[in-house]
Amino acid sequence: MEDNKDSNLPDISIVIPLYNEEESLRELQEAIKAALADQYTFEIIFVNDGSSDKSWDVIKELSAQNKNVHGISFRNNHGKSTALQAGFEKASGTYVVTMDADLQDDPKEVPEMVQMLKDGYDLVSGWKKERYDPISKTIPSKFFNFVTRVAAGIKLHDFNCGLKAYKADVVKSIYLYGELHRYVPMLAKREGFSKITEKVVTHHPRKYGHTKFGLSRFINGFLDLVTILFVQKYLQKPMHFFGSIGVLFLGIGGAINIYLAAIKILFNQGIGQRPLLFLGVLLMVLGVQFFSTGLLGELINKNHVEHQKPGISETV
Ligand code: UDP
Ligand code: MG
Repeated sequence: MEDNKDSNLPDISIVIPLYNEEESLRELQEAIKAALADQYTFEIIFVNDGSSDKSWDVIKELSAQNKNVHGISFRNNHGKSTALQAGFEKASGTYVVTMDADLQDDPKEVPEMVQMLKDGYDLVSGWKKERYDPISKTIPSKFFNFVTRVAAGIKLHDFNCGLKAYKADVVKSIYLYGELHRYVPMLAKREGFSKITEKVVTHHPRKYGHTKFGLSRFINGFLDLVTILFVQKYLQKPMHFFGSIGVLFLGIGGAINIYLAAIKILFNQGIGQRPLLFLGVLLMVLGVQFFSTGLLGELINKNHVEHQKPGISETV
């Protein structure tokens, strides 16, 4: 992909989700400008995730003063993933870079990350090798990264780094919600963007305000990991998952009940008190339930044709 030299579209779109970060925005915009202006054309897309402070006023001011600064404002707080998604949809650059608004990520890293995209990578993820966060965050984070690394089969040290650079195709092919921003590399890989790498980036302590994520980040994060692992495998064929469990249960339950019926009929033995009868009935009922869940899944899927479209990389 070439830079957008001849058109009005910028080379780079910087997407910045923010929730109550009024003190940082002006400084951040200056820092991005200083880091990029002499090499690239760029736009900044601030996504105000329902801030209750003056963030949106600051963004409106910045946008009035700089024609490459844009903003999207949510009426209430939807979370970082939803904010990123809105920014991705608006981004028009050849490359898309995300960073946090709290000045912890350093815009000076962007040119090198974009160079790596030009060299052929689809996604370059920042790695906060030396981190300035409290220990309550760094230890769970190490564990989280380990689990994700194994589950996803992607060799990254720091999945959750806010600073990442993408070819535009990547962000246009994925859909973020919930806590999925922690798993963008997995989503990208699932869409067939396999050239994923990382770059060690400078990390700063938070200068203003405070972190927006509490303990719930770990619980919600893991629930979303389960979802994504399931979705990765079975989204397009829920019947394969639920149906096979259903058939297995129905089969075993059916066999048990036929056996019981046989000894009742042939040998006239009482079977009413046998625990095995309850197991047989239970398995058959559960089997039907799994089976119908699978069927429902298939029906719901039919209404979401979107999900079944393959990501097309080229046509001639
Ligand atoms: N953020 C957001 N919506 C939220 C929570 C956070 O847009 O509901 C933004 C936040 O303003 C910041 C980025 O996401 O720009 C990362 O958040 P934070 O710095 O609080 O996370 P941490 O660095 O502590 O992981
Ligand atoms: Mg932060």
